[in-house]
Amino acid sequence: MGSDGQLSVPNHTIIPFIIGDGIGPDIWRAAVRVFDAAVNKGYGGQRSITWKEVLAGEKAFNETGSWLPKETLDVFRTYLVGIKGPLTTPIGEGIRSLNVALRKELDLYVCLRPTKWYEGVPSPIKNPQNVNMVVFRENTEDIYAGIEFAAGTDEAQKLQRFLKQEAHVVYNFTDTTGIGIKLVSEEGSKRLMRSAIEYAIAHGLPSVTVVHKGNIMKYTEGAFKKWSFEVAETEYGDVTYTWGQWERVRAEKGQEAANAAQKEAEEQGRIIVKDMIADNFLQQILLAPKDFSVIATLNLNGDYISDALAAMVGGIGIAPGANINYKTGHAIFEATHGTAPRFANTNTMNPSSVILSGVMMLEYMGWQEAADIIVKALSQTIKNKTVTVDFYNLMDDALLMKTSEFADKIIEKF
Ligand code: NAD
Repeated sequence: MGSDGQLSVPNHTIIPFIIGDGIGPDIWRAAVRVFDAAVNKGYGGQRSITWKEVLAGEKAFNETGSWLPKETLDVFRTYLVGIKGPLTTPIGEGIRSLNVALRKELDLYVCLRPTKWYEGVPSPIKNPQNVNMVVFRENTEDIYAGIEFAAGTDEAQKLQRFLKQEAHVVYNFTDTTGIGIKLVSEEGSKRLMRSAIEYAIAHGLPSVTVVHKGNIMKYTEGAFKKWSFEVAETEYGDVTYTWGQWERVRAEKGQEAANAAQKEAEEQGRIIVKDMIADNFLQQILLAPKDFSVIATLNLNGDYISDALAAMVGGIGIAPGANINYKTGHAIFEATHGTAPRFANTNTMNPSSVILSGVMMLEYMGWQEAADIIVKALSQTIKNKTVTVDFYNLMDDALLMKTSEFADKIIEKF
């Protein structure tokens, strides 16, 4: 990572990967062949990737006795960019989730989830081609801070006493009340929003929508909206136009003037920064998906939103993701689904989730040619109805492919 904030990637680069548990090895083995073939096709030997395996999850536990060996974190810290398969969540091991631990250790504050429809992918909605959104989900705060106290514990009771006696909260606490704490900071909100706006600028996208529950949780969700708008207006005022500005013009000069000002901003190609309450947003993505482009949201809302959007364009078998710290450059790319343990070693699951996560990684590295080659071939393969079982079950006249065969078909298209 250069001092200018630009990632500088060697032409022959080393990338650490975690193979993952459950279906992880099947989909990784298919995906890595696609990556290597695409890089080879795109750069004819001028660029290459050496894959460096690091351990996490069940495989790590079986081989080293630790679910997340320190060496794995050190390697990701050193190499900056990596990719991982899904990991089993150890139960009762003192680790809430390995994914959360990785994100926390490397302060990967953006969970990036693009949602785009590929022609031919079965979708539950009528016009999936209208869905093209990129979710920026805050990845370190909100419920991910994981501060919770079980009902009946000393901590929960002490907290109740504090809330009643010192914070003067009027609430009928009982011994059976568990307590969770929601944390949202100005720094956390602002760095997420900066990333979302930078992304919209870099990709020439029309809007950033801040999704929140600020109507109910004023000092967390509401503050997130306020801080996000502040970033847009004070740091990116020359390229954005916010609904906050619209409201101020309306208050001063009336609705027509406000609409005219926004129209002018749109014509100038400014990024429109709007906001929406999360529940309304979840209906609007179904009713008017064309209205949304980049989404900035806190952790819990982002969780629901990204899965709902994934379902609209074909489900988690094709949903890629990344966890990124744009300041340090650290980034771990990953499929968004879990280990689907019932299907482990069946060579039947859809590797598109990991393949498209790899596409995001190549784009992040600036290896756009290789990324484009994969996207084009993957789209054609699905369009030709040569698909894995998840899509096969929903398509007429499709040809059923094993995980490995699906990768072969993609590589043939190169
Ligand atoms: P899951 O995502 O593993 O599977 C749910 C269902 O989705 C599967 O039964 C399967 O029908 C479908 N599916 C998942 N991946 C698919 C693919 N590539 N192609 C086609 N269909 C696919 O969810 P789960 O069963 O709730 O979780 C299993 C384990 O995974 C748990 O231990 C959980 O903690 C873990 N998990 C890990 C991650 C991660 O590592 N990022 C994310 C979620 C869950």
